[in-house]
Order: sequence, then C-alpha cells, then structure tokens
Amino acid sequence: MIKIKNIVKRYPGMERPAVDNLSLEINEGETCVFLGPSGCGKTTTLKMINRIIEPTSGEICVNGKNIMDQNPDELRKGIGYVIQKVGLFPHLTVYDNIATVPRLLKWNENKINKRVNELLEMVGLVPEENNSKYPNALSGGQRQRVGVARALAGNPPSMLMDEPFSAVDPVTRTQLQNEFLKIQKKLKKTICFVTHDIDEAIKMGDRIAIINEGSLVQYDTPENILLNPANEFVEDFVGPDRSLKVLSLINIKSIMKENIKNKESNCYSVPLDATLREAIAKMLECNTNSVSVVDDKNSLVGSVDMRDIQKYIGRAYDENGQEEKSDINVSN
Ligand code: ADP
Ligand code: MG
Repeated sequence: MIKIKNIVKRYPGMERPAVDNLSLEINEGETCVFLGPSGCGKTTTLKMINRIIEPTSGEICVNGKNIMDQNPDELRKGIGYVIQKVGLFPHLTVYDNIATVPRLLKWNENKINKRVNELLEMVGLVPEENNSKYPNALSGGQRQRVGVARALAGNPPSMLMDEPFSAVDPVTRTQLQNEFLKIQKKLKKTICFVTHDIDEAIKMGDRIAIINEGSLVQYDTPENILLNPANEFVEDFVGPDRSLKVLSLINIKSIMKENIKNKESNCYSVPLDATLREAIAKMLECNTNSVSVVDDKNSLVGSVDMRDIQKYIGRAYDENGQEEKSDINVSN
C-alpha cells in the first residue's frame, strides 16, 4: 500500500507549489493512474515516492513504513521504476540491464539467469535472441519491454511507471498496454502509473487521480470519473464523449438477456467477455439494434439490445444526478 499525506513540493522560483497538499492512498495490488495536463505535478509526485525528489512537507508511507525512515537505495530496491526516456543503461546488454537489481540484492548467478529468462518471456521477447543485445539494437517497443522486465526483476511489491508507453507508435502502445494488463492481473503489484492520456488512464487504472496545478481534483474509479466528473475541469479533461468512453468499461454481462427468443439475430454475435462498446460497434457494422452473445464454444447464450444499453447508461447518469440536475428555485 502507498499512502501519500499532505505532500507539498515547492521548487525555488515557482510562484505556486508544483505539488500542493496532495493526499491519496493506493490499495495493495491496485493500479492508480495520475492523470492531468503537462506540468500539473505528476512526475514530481511520483519521484517523491522513491525519494528521487524530497518533499517540502508531508508524509509518504510505502508498505506501512515512512519512506524518510529508510535508506533511499534500500527503498528503491522494493519499488520498480519504468520511465519513458533514458530508460536502459546503454553500455549494458539486455541481460545485464535486467539483472541490475537482482545483483544489488546479491542473488546467485543461477537464480538471476532463471529470473532474466523468465521475465523476457513474460514481456514477449525470446531470451536467446535478446539476452546479449545492447539497447541501441532494439526497437522502441522492445526497449520498453526490457524496461518493464528490469523494473520487475527484483520482484518489488510496488511499481512507479512514468508515461511508460508514450514514446512508441500507437499499435505497439496498445500491445504493450494489453501485455502489461495481463502481467498485472497475475502479479498484482501496487502501481502508480502516470499518463496525460485519458484513454490510457481508463484502460490501465483501477482508480484515477486527476491532478490540476499540483492539487488532487478527483480520485475515483474510471467509471465514476466518466459518469460523475467532480467539476468542470474534469468534465473538460475527459472530453465530450464520456458516455461513449464509459461503454468500454462495462461488460455486456451486466445487461445481457439470457432468455433468447429472437433467433434471427444469431448471425451477429459478440463473445461473452465483450464490452458494451464492442456490442454497439457490432450493431453499427451490421445495421441492427440487437446482437447475440456466444460463449467460447460458439453456443448462443444471450442477447444484447441497443435499448437496454441506452437505459443502462441513462440510469447511471440519473443516479449520479447528471440528468436530473434542476435549478428551479422558487424562493421568490
Ligand atoms: P508533469 O509530470 O505533470 O508534466 P512535473 O511534475 O514534471 O509535471 O512538473 C510540475 C511543475 O514543476 C512544472 O511547472 C515544472 O515546470 C516544475 N518543475 C519540475 N521540475 C522542476 C525543477 N527541477 N525545478 C523547478 N521547477 C520544476
Ligand atoms: Mg511528467
């Protein structure tokens, strides 16, 4: 667990603090995304967690221990760190890059060897082909993969990731995001993930911390941020299509009808793990208002209707007071 309490960071010469009394808690095994415009204080906050930057005031605890009571080198061995640039040591091979922390932890070479190979496979690289390469012989995507492997090497309970996938092309980026989600599902690290991209935040985060000018504006699940933005800043930041964005967070199971009467829609189907967004996409492609749902054996298990999607999203807005806001005030 990572606990940030009333953290302030003032840089000399800056009128306002770069980070201004920020408090939040990240639960064990969850990914918290720091989201906000450039210069809002995301990187500064992240770097205070592993003491690359010292806070002006406030307190940070990692796994129940105040970070100021720990030796910075010892602290960092327990916190994996992935960044967009500068990432790998250019004079070290892929193998030696990944082996950095295990060596600091004084593991024996056998154990290190096993760990490096296992990690390379986990991030989708063939060990024999990549172990002895230097970073400049890798593509951008491969470099980021090695960066993730290196951060995981010492099996740290926590990870800090600063725009880890933003320097690669969109296709590679989607791949890296999906691979990392798979890894995180298995490893359940406690993660701070920085991005300025709302779509990445929605995809990667269990919770999103929206930051503006050093202050925390809203800290909530992606679904609640989209359906119930705390103020105009959040509303503008998530964009005018937030009811479309939220569709990709909701599984069709939440509105699927299991009782199939309409066998006709059979030819247009989506899998059971599809999102509402995928169901609507299929409806648009097939010029229909309803699609069938099939299981992994391709047997029909239910159907999803456009009307039900509309009702579901509409009701969510109602519950959050978005639609029902009425400022009729009969005080005269
Ligand atoms: P973000 O990662 O959200 O883009 P940063 O945390 O890097 O933002 O920066 C927050 C603010 O602090 C910015 O206004 C930036 O110019 C300023 N800043 C960052 N690092 C320093 C520094 N070393 N000295 C002075 N100002 C800094
Ligand atoms: Mg930054």
